[in-house]
Amino acid sequence: MLYTLWGLLFLFATASAMLMLRRTRRRRQHDQALALIKTTRCRHCDQAYGANLRDYLIIGEYMWKPAKGHTVSSLKLPAETYHVKCPHCGEEVELTREGKPFQHPQTGILGFTRTGFLRTPKSI
Ligand SMILES: [Zn+2]
Repeated sequence: MLYTLWGLLFLFATASAMLMLRRTRRRRQHDQALALIKTTRCRHCDQAYGANLRDYLIIGEYMWKPAKGHTVSSLKLPAETYHVKCPHCGEEVELTREGKPFQHPQTGILGFTRTGFLRTPKSI
């Protein structure tokens, strides 16, 4: 009985630690992407998006359904993208984590689901 309790406690502690590591890693990836996007120039008006990203950026998460013979990684499909509305001209663009405009693939996928739009992290 005691071993079972310690086992459950160990499992709970391990699962909590893994969730915290995952959350920390995602937060770091978001921060890196957002730091890059702040300096990215709008392709329409050529001005940098600037520091106030929280007001005009949302993060979209994707669930991709690749066609037979393709995978999410072979098509280089992002798990999330950054939807930015330019504060200077209003042009909307969907950017990858690298700050590049995201083009939806025309072949290789059967469909996708946007699993939700997250609010911008408060750290921005
Ligand atoms: Zn613009």
